[in-house]
Amino acid sequence: MEVLEDIRTRVYRFGNKTADGNSTMKNLLGGKGANLAEMSAIGIPVPPGFTISTEACTEYNELGEEAVLAFLKEDVEKAIENIEDIMGTTFGDNENPLLISVRSGARVSMPGMMDTVLNLGLNDEVVKGLAAKTGNDRFAWDSYRRFIQMYGGVVLGMKPESKDDIDPFEEIMEHLKEKREIQLDTQFTVQDLKDLVYDFKDAVKKRTGHDFPSDPWQQLWGAVIAVFNSWNGNRAIYYRKMNGYPADWGTAVNVQAMVYGNMGENSGTGVCFTRDAGTGENVFNGEYLINAQGEDVVAGVRTPQQITKLGSERWAELAKVEETDRAENYPSLEELMPSMYKELFEYQNKLENHYHDMQDMEFTIQDGKLWILQTRNGKRTGAAMVKIAMDLLKQGLIDEKEALLRIEPNKLDELLHPVFDPKAIKRAHIIAQGLPASPGAATGQIVFFADEAKKFRNTILTRIETSPEDLEGMNLAKGILTARGGMTSHAAVVARGMGKCCISGAGALKIDYKNRTLTVDDKEYHEGDWISLNGSTGNIIEGKVATIEPTLSGEFAELMKLTDKFSTMEVRTNADTPKDAKAARNFGAKGIGLTRTEHMFFEVDRIKAMREMILADTVKGRKQALEELLPMQREDFEGIFEAMDGLPVTIRLLDPPLHEFVPHQLATQKELADDMHISLSAVKNKVAELHEFNPMLGHRGCRLGNTYPEITEMQTRAIIEAALNLKEKGIVSKPEIMVPLVGTMNEFIEQETIIRETANKVFEEYNDTIEYLVGTMIEIPRAALMADKIAEYADFFSFGTNDLTQLAFGYSRDDAGKFLPIYLEKGILTVDPFEVLDQEGVGQLIKMGTERGRSTKPNLKVGICGEHGGEPSSVEFCYNTGMNYVSCSPFRVPIARVASAQAAIKAGSK
Ligand code: ADP
Ligand code: MG
Ligand code: MG
Repeated sequence: MEVLEDIRTRVYRFGNKTADGNSTMKNLLGGKGANLAEMSAIGIPVPPGFTISTEACTEYNELGEEAVLAFLKEDVEKAIENIEDIMGTTFGDNENPLLISVRSGARVSMPGMMDTVLNLGLNDEVVKGLAAKTGNDRFAWDSYRRFIQMYGGVVLGMKPESKDDIDPFEEIMEHLKEKREIQLDTQFTVQDLKDLVYDFKDAVKKRTGHDFPSDPWQQLWGAVIAVFNSWNGNRAIYYRKMNGYPADWGTAVNVQAMVYGNMGENSGTGVCFTRDAGTGENVFNGEYLINAQGEDVVAGVRTPQQITKLGSERWAELAKVEETDRAENYPSLEELMPSMYKELFEYQNKLENHYHDMQDMEFTIQDGKLWILQTRNGKRTGAAMVKIAMDLLKQGLIDEKEALLRIEPNKLDELLHPVFDPKAIKRAHIIAQGLPASPGAATGQIVFFADEAKKFRNTILTRIETSPEDLEGMNLAKGILTARGGMTSHAAVVARGMGKCCISGAGALKIDYKNRTLTVDDKEYHEGDWISLNGSTGNIIEGKVATIEPTLSGEFAELMKLTDKFSTMEVRTNADTPKDAKAARNFGAKGIGLTRTEHMFFEVDRIKAMREMILADTVKGRKQALEELLPMQREDFEGIFEAMDGLPVTIRLLDPPLHEFVPHQLATQKELADDMHISLSAVKNKVAELHEFNPMLGHRGCRLGNTYPEITEMQTRAIIEAALNLKEKGIVSKPEIMVPLVGTMNEFIEQETIIRETANKVFEEYNDTIEYLVGTMIEIPRAALMADKIAEYADFFSFGTNDLTQLAFGYSRDDAGKFLPIYLEKGILTVDPFEVLDQEGVGQLIKMGTERGRSTKPNLKVGICGEHGGEPSSVEFCYNTGMNYVSCSPFRVPIARVASAQAAIKAGSK
């Protein structure tokens, strides 16, 4: 037993301005314990206590209870003695008792871990001593009642047995309240509290078969073991798996002298923040309750009051309370206990300056003495995150690199979409919940069909699911709601690209296209009814909710400027329209990494020509239809090149299977037949002929261009002509023509030849030239393997990680909804590989492709254009792979810029 011979202690004391540990020891002491130690050491008044390290938890799991308690015993006893010395009280003493709290604390805060037990050390004798010593019977018996309840629930497992059950202790209290005809806990008499203690203990005996432990030491060890066990509770295991936290981290246990906020009118407890967690404003704020114990503030038994006078005044304004009434009945701590407030203010200042970040603190006032019970870096909104980082930078508390590293890139998303007015959202009636597929806020009238998205001024396109045919309607709608599909469904991906609010996979919705109704829980909604979507929470709300434009505050712009100082990998955008291109450019995109040309064919005036092209039986017929499309494509490219004047624009040649373009409804098939002067059955036959068993593996990508070279010719001509036309106007276009879905070198060479020959023809016609590149997407695993060969001909590579992921895993993205959610739930996969790049597996293909490509062509330009290009951890991977750029949807450009700068900073500091 090697561990037992190890004489290092597992017990770290703190209190009385000293500590064995410090804030850097989070892995050993957990977040709470490390900060309690640090606070104590820098002279903040923390109730004395000790932390049992996470190692002990791991050892407990390996060696079992007996072995671990044996080597903890002596140190814990000494540490309790230390508390006794500082507090002048004795654990288990009947006259002058020390009570303690037992608090869990892993290195990261984890929901589902054990709750805290307060007032531990009480029994039938000790409670009398506590009452006598404080002269406060009520306080003593209320503390005892709370202790049995908490210990019973947390340590002895006295929880409700099923979801419909109520808490066994609450049940007893409710009974007594009924009998006594009272409503509130505070109305219990001392005798009531004594009766409750008796009944609680009785209930424990009945349910567990054992007496409630009266020996304080037995209580303490029971609580410590319960904390250890909570590390392997179902909820904790699930949470760990989800976040990829290893099982051997373990949790620490914090044991601490109780301080009492519930000792009377000169006592209280509260929570405070050094800055505003919602806006980031540099104002101290928080809430408190007089005569209350820790958990009361959060539990909402009584309505807490504001700590500062300013906060109290702001609150009164919202609550419509008169100033005189406020000052008298809802005074701030600042007004009620000025000296306590002054001290608290000093500590919050000291702690923020010490940690160089916004702090979230807990405090308790016991009979006119202030104690701090916890501090940690406070959670905050995206807006607050940006403001606080930039303010701290200006204050000189952190440097530029640190300010950038403080940004959680994904949270910037909140700043980039319109949001609901928080006041209005409070009154909202939520009818159902879906996946928060694309953030933002949308209010509109229900329509069920994409081609009716213009039926009202503001519409919510409500569909079972969407398809590429719905694109235009999606663009016109204010928001998109689907009953099926996940976070990577068509609706979700397209909506995010558009920066449009979307909720997907709302399973509770029953959509009836025929009757044009939406039913949720027996309530029917009709076309034209108003609903609202909160794309950030997935809440579907009945009726209208007011929205406000996001304010891109000055700090946000400053932050963006700062990224340029550090990022060496550029950020481009995926954009199919001049509007998107401009939006992305405003967000700082340095070019376009992907323009999907097929989207251009879905618009009403073009889809017809496109369908004619597809239905044509001869090359001549196809060429004729393509000729109709040429001017429209050219116009599209002119718009985009103009928007991106001077910046590179990557254009992907036609990619999707042709089946997606042909009509599937009888009425539209008829229309097409009439237009083309052919029979309906001819149209039907063609549609049937285009049907494929595996369209994603079928006739698509460069297989189209290689079987119908005239399509590649037309697209190339449109690109080059557009660039030359703009050149005359002094606009600089830098086209990078991209061949999709290449798997063999010859596939690429064929296409490249057509592109170059066509370009040369156009140059001759114009008697002028422009610079352009021809490259390929690497999205078929074979292409990554053959990268050195392909690079002999290609000017650039762009990793299309959506298809690459699909093909590397062998998962069809459109069908993954059937198993991916279950895989994630079971932990077979920890993250959705379509959202977060699978660095381990797919990442190897990217690395290999890049290395092999550059072995042939050392300065080969390499980028990424999948959805992953805007996902922070994937962006970091791209940086470390040596990519020249990442490309993402316009609304993720700022996120990718921060992620890119962070990757450079992190790599530089290694
Ligand atoms: P959580 O992580 O859920 O906040 P805590 O361990 O911080 O759990 O404790 C819950 C509540 O009990 C907090 O309000 C805290 O301030 C209070 N509390 C914990 N220990 C003590 C103590 N020794 N004396 C007084 N209050 C305490
Ligand atoms: Mg806490
Ligand atoms: Mg692809």
